[in-house]
Amino acid sequence: MKQNIELLVNKIIREAKISSSPINAERLAESYFGLDFDCGKLNETELAGLKVTEKKIYINESRADELAANIGLKNFTIAHELGHWALHRDLTGEHTPQIEREADKFATYLLMPENFVRAEFAKFNEHRLLEWLPTDMKVSSLADTFRVSYTAMKIRLSQWELNLIYVDFKSGKCYLSKEEFLEITTGQIRLF
Ligand SMILES: [Zn+2]
Repeated sequence: MKQNIELLVNKIIREAKISSSPINAERLAESYFGLDFDCGKLNETELAGLKVTEKKIYINESRADELAANIGLKNFTIAHELGHWALHRDLTGEHTPQIEREADKFATYLLMPENFVRAEFAKFNEHRLLEWLPTDMKVSSLADTFRVSYTAMKIRLSQWELNLIYVDFKSGKCYLSKEEFLEITTGQIRLF
């Protein structure tokens, strides 16, 4: 399924003629998917929700300020709802953890397409000064460029064999493993 979601997202990116970062999920929702936005009362644990029959993404009114103050969180939240629209709009019933994971994957691929991120990452090595940036600053810089959270970018980078990320001798920062890099202590980490 993972591969299929990424292929689907890449097709959407091509069809929507997106050629540079950052990818604005809100704009894409309106221009490509034909979805509208509204505010409403939702469960406190939810930031937003999709109402398929109305073709609307509802932002939880009690958490709207939180989203407005955090562009990375907002972009990912909307992209997650776009994932539900693209993948699950014909499903009925409860949203299972698997469905939520699929929507998170959709959002990850949509906001941080592999070729876009790799191209930006390569820029660090093209500039002598940037090459010496500590790894954490590279992650921060990419997160800003793509308008996603630091953690979301870290997870995305960890999906590829970018050795610089794990072991950065030049800055003195050395990550011994992917787990240490991601700061995983127990169980699963959250995307934001
Ligand atoms: Zn969801």
